Amino acid sequence: MKLSVIVPSYNEEDNVSLFYDEFVKTFKSYKGEYELIFVNDGSKDNTLYELKKIVDKGKNIKVVNFSRNFGKEAAMLAGLKESSGDFVSLIDADLQQRPEVLLDMVNLLEDHLEYDCVCAYQDSRNEGKVLTFFKNCFYKLINKISDVNFVRGASDFRAFRKSVRDALLELSEVNRFTKGIFSFVGFNTFYFSYQAEERTNGTSKWSFKSLFKYAINGILSFSMVPLKIATILGGMTIIGSFIYLIVALLLKVAISTLMLFFLISFFAGVQLLMIGVISEYVRLMCDEVRKRPVYIAKEVLVSKKYKK
Ligand code: UDP
Ligand code: MG
Repeated sequence: MKLSVIVPSYNEEDNVSLFYDEFVKTFKSYKGEYELIFVNDGSKDNTLYELKKIVDKGKNIKVVNFSRNFGKEAAMLAGLKESSGDFVSLIDADLQQRPEVLLDMVNLLEDHLEYDCVCAYQDSRNEGKVLTFFKNCFYKLINKISDVNFVRGASDFRAFRKSVRDALLELSEVNRFTKGIFSFVGFNTFYFSYQAEERTNGTSKWSFKSLFKYAINGILSFSMVPLKIATILGGMTIIGSFIYLIVALLLKVAISTLMLFFLISFFAGVQLLMIGVISEYVRLMCDEVRKRPVYIAKEVLVSKKYKK
């Protein structure tokens, strides 16, 4: 049995070698074979140089080198396309997700034929209360308005069978929201509790703004409810204005200029907001229609000792 390990790497010059050494040490006890697929996602530091050193010294190593930074989603997709194992796994390069945990996950998958995927999740994360609050809100909201189920704390840190990989690649969307894609394809998933370590070196690439944008993309990709809200709000507004008209006529109340001004600006605001929601969907559709590649790989480096 062969395992493909995909490692998205962006500005991880101080981590990739450490990761490689830790990984090799840990997987000495692994019964099967493995290949390591690093994806250099347009790093601006010396990550590529460090990865080339690994290609030179290691065996069964591939490095997909992107022409620029395309984001972790694109890096994971490139890794999936390059993978040839019976089992495939996704793990970060910064050692927050430990190779020992991955080995346990892969062993679990090998021993339990009833599971197709093992997904590492965290009960709690070492992060600020505000971020935790927003994340809770996101999961509550998306689970209410989407047909697929999102598990709170479930990460991209996963090991799965080839059949799951093939299903993931069937989804050809350009805007990829892997959390949702995994939920969409289904399969029997075992949720494996783990605690992420502190980052070994460097900083996280996620800011509050980028997380917010990511969450919005996720909602738009996996729910049509925001569009329905426009219709519901429109209907409610029409009914409300009729009720207002009848009450005003019966009670013979005069509409003040102030009230009129408020109503006009309020409904203009609601309409603009709804146009905003629609244009967000149009934006995503534009990306899908253009069918631009999700990433551009400049080259794929393969170690001398590479067994297909
Ligand atoms: N990453 C990537 N492309 C990006 C951003 C991140 O390939 O544009 C990689 C990064 O090198 C790391 C993983 O994705 O291996 C997770 O990123 P990070 O550690 O910044 O996320 P966090 O752990 O803070 O959620
Ligand atoms: Mg990290």
